Amino acid sequence: MTKHVVVIGGGIGGLATAYNLKKISKDIRITLISDRPYFGFTPAYPHLAMGWRRFEDITVPLGPVLSRAGVEFINERAERIDPDLCKVWTSSGREIGYDYLVIATGPKLVFEAEGMEENSASICTAEHAAATRDRFEALCRDPGPVVVGAIPGVSCFGPAYEFALMVHHELVKRGLRRRVSITYVTSEPYLGHLGLGGIGTSRRLMEDLFAEKDIRYVTNVKVKAVERERVVYEDLEGNTRDLPSKFTMLMPKFAGPEVVLSAGSKVAHPKNGMVIVNKCFQNPSYGNVYGVGVVAFIPPVDQTPVPTGTPKTGQMIEGMARAAAFNIVADIKGLKERYAPTLAALCIADMGDEGIGFLANPVIPPRIWVKSRKGRWVHWAKTAFERYFLWKVKRGNIYPSFEEFLVEKILRMKAVEPCDSCEGSPT
Ligand SMILES: Cc1cc2nc3c(=O)[nH]c(=O)nc-3n(C[C@H](O)[C@H](O)[C@H](O)COP(=O)(O)OP(=O)(O)OC[C@H]3O[C@@H](n4cnc5c(N)ncnc54)[C@H](O)[C@@H]3O)c2cc1C
Repeated sequence: MTKHVVVIGGGIGGLATAYNLKKISKDIRITLISDRPYFGFTPAYPHLAMGWRRFEDITVPLGPVLSRAGVEFINERAERIDPDLCKVWTSSGREIGYDYLVIATGPKLVFEAEGMEENSASICTAEHAAATRDRFEALCRDPGPVVVGAIPGVSCFGPAYEFALMVHHELVKRGLRRRVSITYVTSEPYLGHLGLGGIGTSRRLMEDLFAEKDIRYVTNVKVKAVERERVVYEDLEGNTRDLPSKFTMLMPKFAGPEVVLSAGSKVAHPKNGMVIVNKCFQNPSYGNVYGVGVVAFIPPVDQTPVPTGTPKTGQMIEGMARAAAFNIVADIKGLKERYAPTLAALCIADMGDEGIGFLANPVIPPRIWVKSRKGRWVHWAKTAFERYFLWKVKRGNIYPSFEEFLVEKILRMKAVEPCDSCEGSPT
């Protein structure tokens, strides 16, 4: 009998899983549930906030592309999961049974500091980024100090660095930089830590860049409150300090959304409600449930004085999706082989006119190797990658054979590798 795989989430994780499943086995029924009617290319949300992209440049309506790919699409919110009954309920009350479930909802955003939700801009969703663009335009009409950074417990630091550097670039372009101070405020113990104890020379690179562009910084701090024109933080000695700010953009913490909590304590991690997974990104208690993308629980890799989390980047997520698809198909076929993502990745930070690229194998330490490059071509490489990724989304194939060949032969990286045992933490 045809097996039914239900995927919750239409972001990089959900879409990559659905497309990979379709590619490797034609004999599976796939339903993708997404509360948003479109796929959004998250890495370009900072560009949307700067006014460098329009919403329609970086989004793809899900209905037509999924229908072409042979994936059923339900444009509703998944409200509840019962992993014992193998059922999902959506916002309209629809009950959907599954043989396999892939949870790829991305995070719930936790704006934990007091006043942060109202007074800090956000770039974490397309809607937030569009609203941030208006706030940035208001700053340009009436310039004043800017604060960018991350509160305690954040795992996604890359976009905060990118955004600080983009704000600098845009203000220089508009002739306003002399009227605006930029301060980066972070829970990281040092610049370029990124929740990973650094990647290669990231500390030196970021310190040099911030010095060259006169972006001041404060590390090892807990942001306590975001007011309309002030950011209040506490340092490691417990002193409370503040910074004036006319425009604030702080990254929120990520947690598992309610639908994951509804699946119970064997699925939702007690620390933050994300999906408990093993090395193969399969839930250890329910073998037919997978967690893919930001919503999968990966423990912190570094004990920092102020808590930080482990980032999950796009290419790591593509690896998780591929591993989940391979493992589901192997299970359906009754095969013993299992796969785990290598978590190797290329991460590019764009600064408007130049960029920095980190190639890490794997992203999570201890690493086999890291390479980093800076230059104008890196900025163009990121722009080209954005177009290429959106083209893949429209074509219904997230990992074409030529990409696999190039990644393996030129970058010397694999997305997944065979795994003798799936047991244990994904790191
Ligand atoms: C601003 C920003 C910039 C980033 N830039 C980069 C970068 O340059 N490079 C890089 O490698 N990584 C980057 N990342 C990290 C990572 O690649 C992204 O966060 C990525 O979008 C995560 O994909 P995902 O599929 O896990 O989650 P998401 O992209 O969040 O997708 C989840 C989807 O599920 C939907 N959903 C949520 N709950 C439900 C529900 N209950 N029912 C139905 N649907 C639901 C959501 O609406 C969303 O469409 C960035 C992250 C952010 C926040």
